[in-house]
Amino acid sequence: MSEPPVWDVVVVGGGNAALCAAIEAAEAGATVLVLESAPRIYRGGNSRHTRNFRCMHHGPLSVLTGTYGEDEYYDDLMRVTKGETDPELARLTIRYSEACLPWMEAHGVRFQASLSGTLSLDRTNAFFLGGGKALVNAYYATAEDLGVSVRYEAEVGHVHLEDGAFQWLELTDGTRIAGRAVVLASGGFQADIDWLARAWGPAARNFLIRGTPYNRGVVLRDLLDQGAQSVGDPTQCHAVAIDGRAPKYDAGIVTRVDCVPFSVVVNRDGQRFHDEGEDVWPKRYAIWGRLVAAQPDQVAYAIIDDKARGLFMPTVFPPVEAETLEGLAQALGLPGPALRETVDAFNAACRPGSFHPTERDGLATEGIEPPKTNWARPIDTPPFRGYSLRPGVTFTYLGLRVCPRAQVQGADGPLRNVYAAGEIMAGSILGQGYLAGFGMTIGTVFGRIAGQEAATHAR
Ligand SMILES: Cc1cc2nc3c(=O)[nH]c(=O)nc-3n(C[C@H](O)[C@H](O)[C@H](O)COP(=O)(O)OP(=O)(O)OC[C@H]3O[C@@H](n4cnc5c(N)ncnc54)[C@H](O)[C@@H]3O)c2cc1C
Repeated sequence: MSEPPVWDVVVVGGGNAALCAAIEAAEAGATVLVLESAPRIYRGGNSRHTRNFRCMHHGPLSVLTGTYGEDEYYDDLMRVTKGETDPELARLTIRYSEACLPWMEAHGVRFQASLSGTLSLDRTNAFFLGGGKALVNAYYATAEDLGVSVRYEAEVGHVHLEDGAFQWLELTDGTRIAGRAVVLASGGFQADIDWLARAWGPAARNFLIRGTPYNRGVVLRDLLDQGAQSVGDPTQCHAVAIDGRAPKYDAGIVTRVDCVPFSVVVNRDGQRFHDEGEDVWPKRYAIWGRLVAAQPDQVAYAIIDDKARGLFMPTVFPPVEAETLEGLAQALGLPGPALRETVDAFNAACRPGSFHPTERDGLATEGIEPPKTNWARPIDTPPFRGYSLRPGVTFTYLGLRVCPRAQVQGADGPLRNVYAAGEIMAGSILGQGYLAGFGMTIGTVFGRIAGQEAATHAR
């Protein structure tokens, strides 16, 4: 099929938000071009690492059990963002999510009941059969069946605006592409380490990026430079503690280290620095990226003994193991005497009591700083095991301000034919903190809205 000289809708990005937009626009009769900066094999951005999306529903819906109403969902969001949200956009996202699940199924996504050990999410979060990779592949197949054109290794460097409207965009290889409307769905900027370092200082050079190396914020920067309104704190990002042996980019979900509540965590000098047992892990895992980032060299070590075996999700890299604490210290590159002193002090502060790994059991230390307030059992049973930990960045919060029609807000009001969806605008709704599964909800809802609006404008 020959290409039109001017596309109705040009979509920048190749993840969940982009594909939802492309499918909606194509179904509305628009000619649609998707520009994905990654090669085909790495298409799909961070969306391909995901497992589930959070969905409002009245009564059982597909794999979801019970009911998850608007107000409960909204309260959950307010708790994590501490009010840092746009209430209108947040409620719109929540309400629209209910219609998204059947839409996703109709466009090729398959769901599965949540697995055990996935934090009782079976009422609130629908899990993708085959994970985010299968979701992304299904959407590409659907989009292509609808006649959407996709170009890979097509990095957009500049989106040309004139008189408050999009005219054409330029790829970094110099190719120009004209369109009647554009949807920006190119994610956050976390893969640009220099940008992260400007926000976080040189420590950011030691951070690992859990997702795609292609989300470098090129389009976000370009729009902000042209006066588009921003949302979200540029110095904020979502980060968890991941295995220090993970690659710099794209290690995904499997490198998260979940043994912290059953461990002592020490820094490079063998010193503890935070209560490892503050609360159940789903409520605390997201603070550990930041805690490790604040330690010297941005590194920490979780130390467990044989009693912790089987109590947490297995890790992709096996732990470092030794029969003695001194042997473990040596293998991990930690100062042996300091680790011994820390563990001895910790063990002496443990008290007898009953241990319940899945709930706060109040088994707390006495007389040490920082305390461990739950699951505090002596580290005394060989073999001893350890993981090195690094901050693993999931996404950044800085983004573009949009209205409920997904239209990007320029310096002098809405840009007439520029829409945004997904992580690039999520800061409006998720101003801080994180609610499991909400990233995909925002991308699906706003991707669909942006695709519909862009097609309507173009045609
Ligand atoms: C390990 C991990 C696990 C996660 N698990 C979940 C989960 O289970 N549930 C959930 O809701 N959220 C999860 N998230 C968050 C979720 O990934 C994001 O919220 C969501 O994928 C964002 O979708 P998106 O389409 O906006 O961005 P992405 O899927 O990241 O897509 C951005 C796309 O833009 C492309 N791109 C970037 N710059 C350019 C450019 N200049 N030109 C052209 N293309 C460009 C990229 O190649 C990519 O294809 C997880 C994130 C990670 C890292």
